[in-house]
Amino acid sequence: MQTNTEKIFTFIDTYAESAETLYLEAVITACEQWLSGEQSPKIEEGVTKEEIRRGIQLAILKGMQQSAQSHHQMTPDSIGMLIGHIAGKLVEGEPGVTLLDPAAGTGNLLYTVMNTIGKDVKASAVEIDELLVRLSAVTAELLEHPVSFYVQDALRPLLIDPVDLTISDLPVGFYPDDDNASDYRLMPVEGHAYAHHLFIEQSMNHTKPGGHAIFIVPANLFDSEQSANLQPYLKKETFIRAVIQLPDSLFKNASHVKSILILQKPYGEMKATPEVLLAKVPDMKNKQAMALFFQKIDMWVKE
Ligand code: SAM
Repeated sequence: MQTNTEKIFTFIDTYAESAETLYLEAVITACEQWLSGEQSPKIEEGVTKEEIRRGIQLAILKGMQQSAQSHHQMTPDSIGMLIGHIAGKLVEGEPGVTLLDPAAGTGNLLYTVMNTIGKDVKASAVEIDELLVRLSAVTAELLEHPVSFYVQDALRPLLIDPVDLTISDLPVGFYPDDDNASDYRLMPVEGHAYAHHLFIEQSMNHTKPGGHAIFIVPANLFDSEQSANLQPYLKKETFIRAVIQLPDSLFKNASHVKSILILQKPYGEMKATPEVLLAKVPDMKNKQAMALFFQKIDMWVKE
């Protein structure tokens, strides 16, 4: 018997394979038909938001392999779940949580986090690629998550109020618009700025004092040509709360290895604590090691 996730994938995939449009366009149409009740997957009652997210995600992944969107890397579930867990703990018990993902892509990471936090959460999602925003918007509707979408360069001014928690799998590389980058503290004196550095600065500008930001960043963030700019900025404007190394095995290429960086925006008289959590995620297939790792994270959040 098929699971709800498989039924959802099969419904979207069957529609998209027989459509004459681009597969990803057809994914959107299939989801719109599901929303309007014209056609829908034969799912069991009590389907969960995670089952819906995963079913749509499988179809988007298939479509991405066939299209120009292949360079937009969807955040893998293994990393999404980890960030979801940490985010859920950081805002536990807080009413009316607001989130921002300034590089939201398909929304997969954002919805994993929203599904973990559960009720009473709303989000703003920024993404430059219009097709990804349409995919992400239709998914948000099916998940019944309140999300405001901004189709724009996230490094241009954002009309978004500061949020409690920013999460993002940052785009990595040079940002070509030097004119715009010159408004940022992290613009280097010579050459182009790193987009991921500017995203960190922009995100902190849109995070409330006392709020947190969780980023997926290159593992060499503190060891790159431009880290000499970044370090004093982070020291002055943020509290570095954690740097969590992700397992190399999650990445095909050693130069693409990532870490999780957790920052907090200073608030009032709040003083920096010297302890920064420096951790390494164990082999994710090792359940016992992962359970211990989550325990460590939970204790760190509590402290
Ligand atoms: N978390 C996303 C998901 O689960 O689908 C994936 C994020 S992907 C690593 C980074 C995203 O940043 C891409 O979708 C890319 O189009 C977007 N991006 C790159 N530069 C941007 C910019 N200047 N403004 C807004 N979005 C941008």
